[in-house]
Amino acid sequence: MTPPDGAPVPRGKAPEGAVSLVGAGPGDPELLTLRAARLIAAADAVVYDNLVGEHILTLIRDDAERIYVGKEAGNHTLPQSEINTLLVRLAQAGKHVVRLKGGDPFIFGRGGEEIEELVQSGVRFEVVPGITAASGVSAYAGIPLTHRDYAQSCTFATGHLQDGTADLDWAALARPHQTVVIYMGIGALPQISKQLIAHGVPADTPAAAVQNGTTDRQRTVVATLGTLADALADAGLRPPALLIVGQVVKLHHRLDWYQHALTEETA
Ligand code: SAH
Repeated sequence: MTPPDGAPVPRGKAPEGAVSLVGAGPGDPELLTLRAARLIAAADAVVYDNLVGEHILTLIRDDAERIYVGKEAGNHTLPQSEINTLLVRLAQAGKHVVRLKGGDPFIFGRGGEEIEELVQSGVRFEVVPGITAASGVSAYAGIPLTHRDYAQSCTFATGHLQDGTADLDWAALARPHQTVVIYMGIGALPQISKQLIAHGVPADTPAAAVQNGTTDRQRTVVATLGTLADALADAGLRPPALLIVGQVVKLHHRLDWYQHALTEETA
């Protein structure tokens, strides 16, 4: 891995650099878009975080700079402001930079913040969408997010709650006939379940957590809203994992298709 020290290019001679903000999808490299795969293979520098699957990183040119900027919960390898500055610096040195993010860069990916800095610095950029975890992970877990019989809408929320306090619109998330997908929700699951139940969601509503979805390490735990937190603790299921709450989760039993080693049913 190369340290984040792109060599300065003499002023006036630099070709114009640019940044492609690219979604890497949920993990399975086959879920990359054709455009993402082409840009990754052509980039002079790739700046990536921990949710990008290792197989995808093999597409990077051997002579390209690879810069890991981390981001596991509570362990930010580089603060966001420094990532923003790094992208600007690499592009201003004339490089074509791929800023590679798990899933889709505009869904809980801070893609907007990184682009704002590029706009302010006059750096050219483009955005390449990726398959977001909700879409990819639910498909591989055999849980359709909408279904004519069970859910006419679907809400994506973040479970990364400030100080564990309730800053989500719980009443909206508790409405019936929808599927609620929660990103980054494993740590706060006990509070999330408590709030949803307090706002009227029946405790026996089917709920699932899927860890490392779309990879060969995918694990699914199915329980109910009331029992999922304990079931996850028993199973030792850890982030990155996606929570799916709603009647559609009961379809998992019939529609699960992805052959993986560990599926635990606790409901
Ligand atoms: N921009 C990303 C989301 C980043 S937030 C996207 O569009 O998917 C990180 C959270 O996404 C994780 O905490 C987890 O809840 C979810 N996530 C991402 N990849 C996942 C995967 N392969 N399996 C399960 N959850 C995943």
